[in-house]
Amino acid sequence: MRKFHLFAALIAPALLPAQFHYPTDYFSSPLDIQIQLAGNFGELRENHFHTGIDITTHGVEGLSVKAAADGYVSRIKVGPWGYGNVLYITHPNGYVTVYGHLKQFNETITNYIGKEQMRTETFEAEVTLQPGEIVVKKGDVIAYSGNTGSSGGPHLHFEIRDAATEEAINPLLFGLPVSDKVPPTPVKIMICPADPDATINGKRSAQKFTLVKSGNNYVLNDSISIYGKVGFAIEGYDKEDLPNGKNGIYSIQLDKNKLEIYKHHIERMPFDKSRYINCFVDYKEYEISDQFYMRSFVLPNNQLPVYDSLVDDGYVRFSSDSVFSFTYTLADAFGNKTTAKFKVHSLKKAPVNAPAIVTKPFDVVLLWGAANSIEETAFRLESGAGAFYQNEELNFSVADDKDGHPSSVTFDSYIPIQSSCTLTWFAKTPEQAMINKTFLAMKDRDGKTSYVGGTWNDEGIHAEIKAFGTFFLMTDTTRPVAKPSNFDLKSTQDDLSSLKTLNFTMSDNLSGIASYHATIDGKWVLFQYEPKKKLIWYTFDDKCGKGKHELKLVVTDKCGNETTYIKSFNR
Ligand SMILES: [Zn+2]
Repeated sequence: MRKFHLFAALIAPALLPAQFHYPTDYFSSPLDIQIQLAGNFGELRENHFHTGIDITTHGVEGLSVKAAADGYVSRIKVGPWGYGNVLYITHPNGYVTVYGHLKQFNETITNYIGKEQMRTETFEAEVTLQPGEIVVKKGDVIAYSGNTGSSGGPHLHFEIRDAATEEAINPLLFGLPVSDKVPPTPVKIMICPADPDATINGKRSAQKFTLVKSGNNYVLNDSISIYGKVGFAIEGYDKEDLPNGKNGIYSIQLDKNKLEIYKHHIERMPFDKSRYINCFVDYKEYEISDQFYMRSFVLPNNQLPVYDSLVDDGYVRFSSDSVFSFTYTLADAFGNKTTAKFKVHSLKKAPVNAPAIVTKPFDVVLLWGAANSIEETAFRLESGAGAFYQNEELNFSVADDKDGHPSSVTFDSYIPIQSSCTLTWFAKTPEQAMINKTFLAMKDRDGKTSYVGGTWNDEGIHAEIKAFGTFFLMTDTTRPVAKPSNFDLKSTQDDLSSLKTLNFTMSDNLSGIASYHATIDGKWVLFQYEPKKKLIWYTFDDKCGKGKHELKLVVTDKCGNETTYIKSFNR
């Protein structure tokens, strides 16, 4: 079993307790249609594990969403990002069900959250409720399915959480009507050197091998010879009887000569641990190829509570003249299994023709177990302990402008960040009028520039960063724009009695939209926001009856640039 060092034991991944038991006849499906999964629990996503199941609604919105069991609405949230419109129901058996990306809520819930939106005069709103306030029975229509928030197409995101710990639990362990006799499919294996002197088929870099089908299982036909310490990783996916895309694998086990050296299964996920996916997979490989290779070894600061067994942290050292048999066993939540077998010829010494060990030059080392503070002429980078998954060698380069002043810093690495670092860019504080308009921006490896922000003091600008890239100052003095899309701002069109809604497309060139506020005749009205379509809209209600009215819309960007639109009209 795992060898514990005192320090490591304090932060090492907790080996799972014995399997929890979940009620399998308590929750019913939240939709009347057959459950077809566009995503499953534990599926690998950028910077997080998927914490629910995505039930496809086959391109349509507005399906009735039903309470999965008796309980009460304990939280309602409306917003343009994340889960969009989302509902939480707390059940008396200690679980909470979550329903995300909803088009709208039922009338009672709409009215409840509507009061909060009115109180704060914003579209985004969140409330927590007391047990007696909105009680629901199993099967009650609580909402209608949609595509709100960070959703790539119409579906229902459904979660089951432990009410006490707020961990998300795999909903497929609760007996939902999902038929699955299809085992996971392994695709490729990657073998990564874990020491500079390790060689894989004579090479000192990670090597990938494609698995081939053999009967119901998979094998590697490649001959593999290894010297030194390595770690294994595997890429693959899972499907159900009604396939709808490539979903995540529930459990992976690796045996060496029939001895289990590694096993994990994704049953529960605390939200504050989900970002550790960046060391669960090979981050660099994901950045380069968009593919998730799941490691069968753990880095020192891996705190995921998914591991069942680990021998030597999953690493294997080859230093004898012999052959080892390895078996990967991939399982889904229903117990369907596939194996992938391969053999490794272990070498006593590195091959004579192996390339020399190259120690690459680097600028600084980032420590995973301690705070870091790196100060250069142009910038300072600081982190608390635990910001990285292992000690990392970081390279950076500072570029100068035409006057020889530092203008940007590029952190040249594929190093993932677990918890924010503070980047201070030493620069002269801009004149008062420009302080709010000058911010740190980041260009990522794809060349995409995004707003980072930051606050100014005598030293320069300080900003929290969660990924490395190229950082530089930008200035946004351009006002955001909102354009009516179903009427005209000009006074020649003042009869809007035929319209059901007032629609604007809203955008900002640099820093992005921070807020908007709309009134009719001086009273706040609700404009909903769908950033995927850059659309805001007001649906005419009792706040705007027959007669003359004036609409005033104020849009503000993240640098405080503001635009005001006024429209007089008749109903
Ligand atoms: Zn989802």
